[in-house]
Amino acid sequence: MNIHEYQGKEILSSFGVRIQRGIVAQDAKEAVEAAKKLTEQTGTGWHVIKAQVHAGGRGKGGGVKLAKNLQEVEKIAGEIIGMNLITPQTSAEGKKVHQVLVAEDVYYPGDNEPEEYYMSVLLNRGTGKNMIMYSTEGGMDIETVAEQTPHLIFTEEIDPATGIMPFQARRIAFNLGLSGTAFKEMTKFVMSLYEAFDKSDSSLFEINPVLKTSDDKIMAVDAKVTIDDNALFRHKDYAEMRDIREESPVEVEAREVGLNYVDLDGNVGCMVNGAGLAMATMDLIKQAGGEPANFLDVGGTADAKRVEEAFRLILKDEKVKAILVNIFGGIVRCDRVAQGIVDAYKNMGDAIKVPIIVRLQGTNADVAKELIDNSGLAVESAVEFQEAADKVQKVLA
Ligand code: GDP
Ligand code: MN
Repeated sequence: MNIHEYQGKEILSSFGVRIQRGIVAQDAKEAVEAAKKLTEQTGTGWHVIKAQVHAGGRGKGGGVKLAKNLQEVEKIAGEIIGMNLITPQTSAEGKKVHQVLVAEDVYYPGDNEPEEYYMSVLLNRGTGKNMIMYSTEGGMDIETVAEQTPHLIFTEEIDPATGIMPFQARRIAFNLGLSGTAFKEMTKFVMSLYEAFDKSDSSLFEINPVLKTSDDKIMAVDAKVTIDDNALFRHKDYAEMRDIREESPVEVEAREVGLNYVDLDGNVGCMVNGAGLAMATMDLIKQAGGEPANFLDVGGTADAKRVEEAFRLILKDEKVKAILVNIFGGIVRCDRVAQGIVDAYKNMGDAIKVPIIVRLQGTNADVAKELIDNSGLAVESAVEFQEAADKVQKVLA
């Protein structure tokens, strides 16, 4: 589950990580009130107005702006709230902004220039350990840094059993070229950041930029946080942070009926059992010249009810021109799945207007094929994987 920047910062703050302070606002009036309140706390009259959407690169899209007085706060907040923010990480249509974070300006002048770093905590699946990734090249796209100057990205592996050791935090501060107060601040920042990641059962904490202020404070200016869905049952307060306005409506619905569904851009709907086979099916569709419209794992029990729910989800996407059903009958028998497909199809009346290609392989596959072929429905059966993909291409042509 992804959360907003302001929510990520709330979590960070609760673990003692210093953050750029801010108050979330739903409209321009609230933004002005928020700015007034912040000025009382911080003493600064300058604020940054930051669009709260689940996408990075907001600055580039015009979703992060500096306001030097209350008139500017009102004007900028009014412009940002309601806009369709287009960033390198959104679709071409962009994302509608419902709220902004009014934050204190932390790039104030002083003895030193403010400096931006990059830091993230995530799981390294290769080593089975957690990993802190960091760089002196903060503030910009980390993918670009990785491509053009990979030697400027450092990693620190952390054994989840022991947690982070103070010497590791010191090594990070050292590699970032810090000394004195900033060095101490950074080690504290890293220790609490790791604790926040660990205790919140998150799979990602990405802070870009981590800022060294002109008076050597280290703080999180941005926060991109992904909390592991499977751990939400023990974090009721985090679970409430879900903002379904930010999620694809079909994905929200899929979660409600317990289907594993991810929206994609193509025109071939997929219904597959097992995540691995689903990935392979998407590859095959691409190889055959098509584009998958979704990832959908129906899981082990592909009965009529589930198949019908899956069909309905897939058909919500108007781009879908054909559906490929690819089921391997290991534990579940293919003839039962085939019966499920036939029943679901009949039950849905004329809701299905696109051709369906079904490939069932495994236990009782032959019986299943017969069932499909004799159903009299506009369903084509295939036995081989490639044969299924070719049939999909034929109906699309
Ligand atoms: P992102 O574009 O979605 O990653 O949003 P960020 O929260 O990272 O903000 C984008 C950029 O806005 C940062 O890299 C900073 O350069 C700038 N920014 C953020 N906070 C402040 C601030 O307090 N003052 C000023 N002057 N710039 C800021
Ligand atoms: Mn950022």
